[in-house]
Formats: sequence, structure tokens, C-alpha cells
Amino acid sequence: MDKPRIFVLGIDGGSWNLIDRFISNGSLPNFKKLKEKGAWGNLISSLPPVTYPAWKCYSTGKNPAKFGVFAWVGIDFGKNRMEVYDSRDFKSKEIWDYLGEAGYSCGVINMPSTFPPKKINGFMVGDILSHMNMVFTYPPGLKKELIRSGYKIRPDYEFTLGFFEKALPEFKKTIKSQFDLALKKMPSTDFMHLTIFHTDQAQHFLWNFMDDEKSPYKGYLEEVWKEMDLNLGRLLKKLPKDTYLIIMSDHGFCMQKNVFYINKWLENEGYLVSKKDPVSLLSRLGINKERILIAVNALGAKGIIKSILPKKILEFYRRVPTKQNNIGVMGATASINWEKSKVISVGEGPIYINKNVVRTKKEYNQIRSELIKKLEGIKSPLTNGKAIKKVYKKEDIYSGEFYEKAPDLLALWEEGCEIRGYITQQKSCWAYDNQWKAHHKREGIFAFYGGG
Ligand SMILES: [Zn+2]
Repeated sequence: MDKPRIFVLGIDGGSWNLIDRFISNGSLPNFKKLKEKGAWGNLISSLPPVTYPAWKCYSTGKNPAKFGVFAWVGIDFGKNRMEVYDSRDFKSKEIWDYLGEAGYSCGVINMPSTFPPKKINGFMVGDILSHMNMVFTYPPGLKKELIRSGYKIRPDYEFTLGFFEKALPEFKKTIKSQFDLALKKMPSTDFMHLTIFHTDQAQHFLWNFMDDEKSPYKGYLEEVWKEMDLNLGRLLKKLPKDTYLIIMSDHGFCMQKNVFYINKWLENEGYLVSKKDPVSLLSRLGINKERILIAVNALGAKGIIKSILPKKILEFYRRVPTKQNNIGVMGATASINWEKSKVISVGEGPIYINKNVVRTKKEYNQIRSELIKKLEGIKSPLTNGKAIKKVYKKEDIYSGEFYEKAPDLLALWEEGCEIRGYITQQKSCWAYDNQWKAHHKREGIFAFYGGG
């Protein structure tokens, strides 16, 4: 039997609504072929439908309370701080661990939640948190080969203001280099997993331009997807006859209509108390995240700079406010009054009751009931529609050994609404957008192809 036997192509943010649009205008002949000759359908993502925990739900086959990470960011109420996760925080075996034990060789490339990489029977290349000057491969020696062959962890330029033209070829190069590696390693691997992450990033920043006749960036997102299609074509050509190809995303995508700053709402409703982080005063001096990003992007080396920043400086950077004086949730620790806040969210849906303040079961239950009622009924003044589709209690969606760590409530947004965890000086908890022009929806993609 030729190798690999299974190839899983993960497309971060892959969504049929977008793919079908580009298939119908002839831009994606290989995706068209895949749909015509394979089986396909909607994939229903995890709760919340976000990269962390979605990819790990796939690779472990478990709900997040069985591996201990519920979103990009969590809360440590023992230390009163926001926690940012990496691969070491996920506590569970994955499909490649089981396959490895059974003697199959596995290759895992760029799946979110794989940095630092771990030992498997085969090789692992770390995700977007990796940096070229760190050990981001298992075995460590593989890194040299990757550098030699031009592997790119990320584009040198992002789709931030003023750098769109430079970012597009960089995105394409990154995608191609990751396919190159997977294709090269295919003959020695039984089970291959490759995630392309930058489709998600491109969609967040470019979606709105697709229908803007006047925009010079109108065709950019289509260009990114044409690159995906080109590489899918290379893969289909090289795939051995008896190999199964599985294509899946972690969640789908749709146009964003509004942003709900949930921590601001909690503050306005009296559940959360914020305080002034001295770092937030930087905005008065004209120093904000956007300006720093533009300066760093101008050097064309965001990843390199990030990789040489000591952790302390990175933590400091996270506390720097945006232009609108918003503090991102990763840097929100110093902006929250932990002694007085009863409820805190990390954005994207998870909501935590602070049991250091809410001490009785009665109050806990009362707050949860109130929040469910209020949030499910809330209307966005910007769209006049519902913002929150449903609020789940933890006991309804989580079970497992990390259950205690799970958020007490999980709010699932209505399509088109993004829930942000900002701590903000603005009075309103609503905004039309906030850099991102499109956001996740729960229906992603799944396709099955081949097998002789
Ligand atoms: Zn995303």
C-alpha cells in the first residue's frame, strides 16, 4: 500500500458559502472536482466555534472539559489573571498518539495548539505561535530542513493598513511552502495532517472588499483561495490511489455586522468593575497598538521581532490600548478589579462567575439565570437584531476531568455578531467593526475524497 493512507487537509475558517462563490465563477476547479467526485457536507464546529478549542476537539475526539482548554484565553481565579494558552495546556492524547502506538507514522503540520511541538511517531511542525529561532519542530533537527526549503510559518506582512499589496504575495508564499512540506513528506507518512491557518486571517481582513467594486483589494481574497486551489490540485495529483483525503475546517465564516463588547456590557450592568491600568495612559501620548503594529510591519518582520521579545515585554505590549482606547482581553488582567468583579468574560463566548466574590450557590444560580435571560434577549442597536443566539450552562455542554475549570456560561453569537472581551473606556458596548470585517459561524466544511 502506498503512503499516506489518510491525508487530512485542515482549512482554518473554510466555509462553503465562500468556496461555492468562487467555484461558480470558475476560480476553484480543484475544489469543484472535489465536490463533484467526493462526499461533502457541513461540519458543525465546537462551542464556541473558534480555532481553540475546535482543532483539538477534532484531534482528541473530545469535548474541551476533557482536555482543559476552552478558548484562546482563560481565567486563573487562583492568581486573578487572564491565561493565554499553548500546546502544553492541552491535556489529552490525540489521534496521532494512538496511531503512533499502533505503529503508524504520522506527520502534523501547523495545526493550531501544536507549539511547542511534542514527540510523536513521525514529525510535528508547530503552529502560528512558532518562531524560526525557536525549536518548533519534532524532531528538532527537522527545523534545518525546513529553513533550507523555504518553509514559512507566517507571511512577513499582514493585511494591516498600508501593507495590503505586500501581504498578498506573502500569504500565497506561506500557503505554498506549507503544502510543499506536506507533499515532500507524504511518501514516508501513514497519516498526514496539514492545517492552513492563513485562510482565516485573510477572510477576517478581506471579506468586505469582495463586493466593493471600487476597492483595489476586491479580488484579493479570491487570489488567496486560488492559491489554495492550485495547491489542492498539486495534492490531488500526487495523492496515491488508495489514500483517503479528508478536508475540513474548524468553523465557517460570514460577514460581520457588529461587535458586542461583552465585558463593557457586564460593567454597564454592574457585574464587572474595571480599573485604570497605568499602561492604558500611553494612548494619551499617542502610543497605541495600531501604531506599533504599523511600525513593526514596516520592517517586514513581525514574526522575527515577536520572537526576540522577552515574555515580559510581550505581556506589556498586550496591555497597550488600541486607537479607540480598548484593552484586548489578553492584556486585561491589570484593567480588572478582581476583588469586586462578579462576572468576567474572555470574549468569543465563555463567561466566568468569580467565585472569590460570588460565594453562595444561591447567588451563583441567580446571576446565571439573570445573565441568560438578559443576554438572550439583548438586541443590537446597530442591526436591530438579536446578538446572542443562545447561552448555555456549563453542565449542558461540558463533561470531564477539567469540568471545574470550564466557563460557567457559554454565549453563542448570532451570525454576523462578534463577541469581544475588550475592557474599554468607551461608553457603548457596541461597534460596527473592529479591524475584522468577517467572523466565524458554526457551520464549517467537511469533504471526503478518494480511497481508490
Ligand atoms: Zn478566525
